[in-house]
Amino acid sequence: MKAARLVAYNQRLRLEEVAEPEITGPHDVIVKIGGAGVCHTDLHLIQGVWAETLGVDLPYTLGHENAGWVHAVGAAVTTVQVGDPVIVHPVMSCGTCLACRRGEDMHCENLVFPGLTVDGGFAEYLKTNERALIKLPPGVDPADVAPYADAGITAYRAVRKVAPLARPGTTAVVVGVGGLGHIAVQLLRELGNATIIAVDTHEGRLGMALELGAAHAVRAGEKAVSSVRSLTGGRGADIVIDFVGSDVTHRQGVEMLRKGGTYSIVGYGGQLSVPSLAMINNEFTIVGNLVGNYSELWELMQLHAQGKVKLHTSRYALDEVNAVLERLEHGQVNGRAVLVPA
Ligand SMILES: [Zn+2]
Ligand SMILES: [Zn+2]
Repeated sequence: MKAARLVAYNQRLRLEEVAEPEITGPHDVIVKIGGAGVCHTDLHLIQGVWAETLGVDLPYTLGHENAGWVHAVGAAVTTVQVGDPVIVHPVMSCGTCLACRRGEDMHCENLVFPGLTVDGGFAEYLKTNERALIKLPPGVDPADVAPYADAGITAYRAVRKVAPLARPGTTAVVVGVGGLGHIAVQLLRELGNATIIAVDTHEGRLGMALELGAAHAVRAGEKAVSSVRSLTGGRGADIVIDFVGSDVTHRQGVEMLRKGGTYSIVGYGGQLSVPSLAMINNEFTIVGNLVGNYSELWELMQLHAQGKVKLHTSRYALDEVNAVLERLEHGQVNGRAVLVPA
């Protein structure tokens, strides 16, 4: 089968013929990929940002935002059958460690992460396990929902954590209205009551944010902090969710907060530095977010089925992966790009 593989850091992915994955364990499932979302994490993986943390050997196939159809199942699999349309929770968790028993799939002590630590879904077939799968209703095209598997679930987890704080009269800022941010705006609208301010560099994405529920759109840049302050009567925002995670957005995100405010980090790569005096004097809360749990993906799929959250996607052939990554790097993707194997 054809797969887009990371062969060396800071190089384009290589499209290669590789062997199809095979069932080796009783709980294994092979999924025929219907669509695989392209994520900023793919850019970070190519740049080697994760190299030390993950400690994996190259080459391997990227793609951690997957949906498709069950193609083959291990002997013990009972909850899905060949042919079922499924969305794939991004990690293969073990189900027996304490973290798994607490429902914290991302903290699993035996975590396997296709697309980060083993072969992912920028290919025709993906190997995962039964625990990772959520069946899609009949008639749902996997390529249309694949971005929920990472962009969606991550936005959901971040918004769910701050939703109790998003009371009437509060303000929530979404920094970066791309693949995750455009979902977060809708989730804040559905799960909270805050006035939503969207911040982005791109006019088109700001327009989309206003359509999806943001009350105000602010151009990213040096004036972003003063704009948020003036929109909040000088007090600052109660909640800032940062989907960019650069040095600049980290600094500005904290500067946008009011006293008692919460700064929630989803995008990454920068360095966050906050004086401890500011932390105690303002009683700030800083929250990190890593993808989300199986149950959170399930809940998000219910919101999708109810028509309460919509994805903005554009489809590309798997062959176009490098061009898509380049467009993503230059901020030229509106919503989420999804690769579809031929
Ligand atoms: Zn991702
Ligand atoms: Zn586990």
